Amino acid sequence: MMMNPKIEIDVVTIFPQMFDSITNFGVLSRAIKNNIISFTAHNLRDYTKDKHKVTDLYAYGGGPGMVMKPEPFFEFYDYYVESKGKKPYVILTSPQGKQFNTHDAERLSKKENIVFFCGRYEGIDERVMNIVDEELSIGDFVVTGGELPAMLMIDAICRFVPGVVGDIDSVKNDSFYNQLLDHPHYTKPREYRGMKVPEVLLSGNHKKIEEFRKKESIIKTILKRPDLFVKHDFDEFEKQVIANIIRELILNEK
Ligand code: SAM
Repeated sequence: MMMNPKIEIDVVTIFPQMFDSITNFGVLSRAIKNNIISFTAHNLRDYTKDKHKVTDLYAYGGGPGMVMKPEPFFEFYDYYVESKGKKPYVILTSPQGKQFNTHDAERLSKKENIVFFCGRYEGIDERVMNIVDEELSIGDFVVTGGELPAMLMIDAICRFVPGVVGDIDSVKNDSFYNQLLDHPHYTKPREYRGMKVPEVLLSGNHKKIEEFRKKESIIKTILKRPDLFVKHDFDEFEKQVIANIIRELILNEK
């Protein structure tokens, strides 16, 4: 018997083909094929009512750039609610939104159905905010359209959906989840161009390996992202590892 997908994601865009990279490649395409995720990219033009399928017009009040018309977004919303019998959780991709992070990704992975609105040009007519639940940004810079931001967020969200990534614990060990950066990773060969894999990783001693990885993760975070380090809530094991780092430093100084 076919199971229902764990999450339904729809995007509304004037460039639905851009999302082929989600449906055709990698972990997400496999999750879609296995019906863990349902994903549909809708062409905004299909929700216009005029002969030329216009989605953008000049701004009231003048000024440079076009503005995306409100009607097709509302038409899509009505179609969605009527055809599925439920409201979507609508995310507007926008540089003005809250900056998306790994905790948003985990939170949103628990939603049943999400719709992303992708803007272009100067953005979308402000009245569309009436059907938007949340405005999210990928950072303090502006890109030409909401498609890449939506793809980034969808990818990060889907990694938290059970069954998408082989081992959900590996997602939780990744950078940011615990306000620490991930430890370094190595594979074969043991030595390459004179660079050796740290001996402890070859030792088979799991306790030592765990300690080494935690130490490297803490050092990387202190050096690269001290802002995260000071926010981290350290457990007993981490406190011990930090004490060892400091002890080694003091002994090396002497
Ligand atoms: N005039 C808008 C402003 O300054 O706030 C920028 C519009 S931008 C050129 C066009 C579209 O790209 C936006 O409507 C949004 O969908 C998307 N976009 C651009 N930068 C983004 C960001 N940092 N995060 C999320 N979406 C973004």
